[in-house]
Amino acid sequence: MESHNRFNLPERIEGLSQLSYNLWWSWHPDAREVFKVLDRSMWKSYGHNPVKLLKDIPYYRLVARAGDASYLSLYDKTIADFKTSIAPGNTWFERTHPECADQLIAYFSLEFAVHFSLPLYAGGLGVLAGDYCKEASDLGLPLVGVGLMYPQGYFHQYISQDGWQSEVYDQVDFDEVAVSRVCTPDGKPLMVSVPLDNVSIHVAAWVLNLGRVKLYLLDTNLDANPMSYRNLSARLYGGDREIRLLQELVIGIGGVRVLRALGLNPTVWHANEGHTTFMLMERIREMVQNGMALEEAISKVQETSVFTTHTPVPAGNDTFAPELIDKYFHNYWSQLKMDRDQFLKMGTIGGHDEAFNMTVLGLKLAGFRNGVSKLHGQVCRKMWHGLWPDVEEDNVPIESITNGVHERTWIAPQYQLLFRQYMGNDWMKHQDDPDMWQNMLLIPDESLWGMHRWLKSKLINSVLYRARRRWVRDRVAPIQPLAMGALLDNDALTIGFCRRFTGYKRASLILRDAARLKRILNRNLEPVQIVFAGKAHPSDEDGKKLIQQIYNLAKDPDFGGRIAFIEDYDLHLARDIVCGVDVWLNTPRSLMEASGTSGQKASANGALNLSVLDGWWFEGYNGQNGWAVEERGGGDPDTIDNQTAKSIYDLLEEQIIPLYYDRDAEGLPRGWIKMMKETMRSNSPLFNTSRMAKEYTERFYLKAIHSQHK
Ligand SMILES: *Cc1c(COP(=O)(O)O)cnc(C)c1O
Repeated sequence: MESHNRFNLPERIEGLSQLSYNLWWSWHPDAREVFKVLDRSMWKSYGHNPVKLLKDIPYYRLVARAGDASYLSLYDKTIADFKTSIAPGNTWFERTHPECADQLIAYFSLEFAVHFSLPLYAGGLGVLAGDYCKEASDLGLPLVGVGLMYPQGYFHQYISQDGWQSEVYDQVDFDEVAVSRVCTPDGKPLMVSVPLDNVSIHVAAWVLNLGRVKLYLLDTNLDANPMSYRNLSARLYGGDREIRLLQELVIGIGGVRVLRALGLNPTVWHANEGHTTFMLMERIREMVQNGMALEEAISKVQETSVFTTHTPVPAGNDTFAPELIDKYFHNYWSQLKMDRDQFLKMGTIGGHDEAFNMTVLGLKLAGFRNGVSKLHGQVCRKMWHGLWPDVEEDNVPIESITNGVHERTWIAPQYQLLFRQYMGNDWMKHQDDPDMWQNMLLIPDESLWGMHRWLKSKLINSVLYRARRRWVRDRVAPIQPLAMGALLDNDALTIGFCRRFTGYKRASLILRDAARLKRILNRNLEPVQIVFAGKAHPSDEDGKKLIQQIYNLAKDPDFGGRIAFIEDYDLHLARDIVCGVDVWLNTPRSLMEASGTSGQKASANGALNLSVLDGWWFEGYNGQNGWAVEERGGGDPDTIDNQTAKSIYDLLEEQIIPLYYDRDAEGLPRGWIKMMKETMRSNSPLFNTSRMAKEYTERFYLKAIHSQHK
């Protein structure tokens, strides 16, 4: 299935082939280096994609490397590391729970953000799922991921001179990304079918290796399918409700069937967000078809399933009109030994003609349910009280496990070197230990600040690279590179605001009082600059108007060239920005941010959060590691927004700017550095995927496993 030398490589370095097809390399700096030094300029222009690089690099260059002793020592060390890292044996899971070594956990998600070459995500949900799978590999959790292979994925964002977003979809070339077709033993593509209305749709799969973890990506673009279904999974969030329903049928029902066809029989099934909860129903169908009584099948599925909801408001849930459900499920419910009413009830609270709600389906069919921060857990218990009317709100059975980030991915490699020095070579293995992080205090101020300044210049260089590339390649108007950050200043206090442009995140809150903001940005000796980035959903006009508003200010000389809007926010840009800014701004409307993870990434790199006390920051803020934006005022949203903006300006003028520019004789902002250390010390041990995956394991997965071996 996985051939080992796909490229024409000299034998001495042929291990590069297997390494390039396992994204393990992407979260290990030495392994990145092994590819990068083959040809730095190709590495950059090919978007850090080793598969593409190995395909095109001239053979003589490889031969030269294969005879270069220093390259070979890096190569040998990396390949040895890689082999140990993917071999079974000494992982946290195997050491702690040896009795569960032969179990399997299936993790379903409509988005996975794993690398810039694979556009399988739109935002935080996908980043979380990608980070989680990488962590599962690091900890040795026996997990497989199930998602969709979107050949066009999510769009690339271009901003026109007048600030309007346009969307460009690239077609993924499967020969140039690290996925392989899943085949049956006789070499034919593995295929399963999913019933639709009166026909069936065929589903095939690609596999992507993330260390030990395999991610199966389902695909409907097959000759065996009618034209109208081939493009079903072409794009993420690209179609209408009917297309979405079909995508969810493919991942939910097709996903279970693909795992079965591969001979995989997970004990635990985890649905990440409501999109994937048809998976729970399909498993009931299997059991009922095997002769089990419906009630028993439902409780079996409940005992072995985890459902994580990420939605903080009822309107945000994924729902389908009953007519659509009728259209696609009228042949299916009899296989569950249900009638139409019973079937519809699984996805509704009880109202008449209510839409079929995928979150409700998850809450009803999974016995382990959670929100993604403590505050969000409370919000969920309140929102879904109607499903458990007989218990007190506090006892509604929805728990919370707070999201985290994969620190190996998100902490700048330069900081990782510092951490090794002060916290030990295997600091990564103890990243969830608060005691270890006390050692932050041992890092000399000069070292931390020097590193931070260097990362900031790296960010600015990367912004300039993007601006220059647009200028040269597309002959854009000269004002555009300026709006894209060509005037950014390495010495100015730099604020980052980067995330999806959607109403509740209030990207323009900080622009509310333009005159006051102008004064703040243009302070003569204490300038401030703001870096914005983020995409609006293609059909979200309001989101696009927000981007336009910001872009127009970025072009306005009155703002001193101190506002920049960087196009095409993605994993790569996100990493540069969270590692390089001084302050991370987040201003969601209260109780609307389920968790948020970008602020965790920033904190892990020493950026100070300036954020509404919502989502994870409600838990993370301790009074000394950043700032809490007060949601002031009451009544209408406009007044609240004005007052909240005012509290941001006050904080900037009274605390943040003075602290940043308060330098000692050596030019160091000692008070600021102290806060950087404090944010890393207090937040890094908590808001990482290691703590998070261990919580899912200990609070949910192990209980589910043990329930089956009573
Ligand atoms: C981390 C990340 C997100 C999530 O950001 P939030 O501010 O938590 O919503 C979205 N997109 C990308 C590319 C990210 O890296």
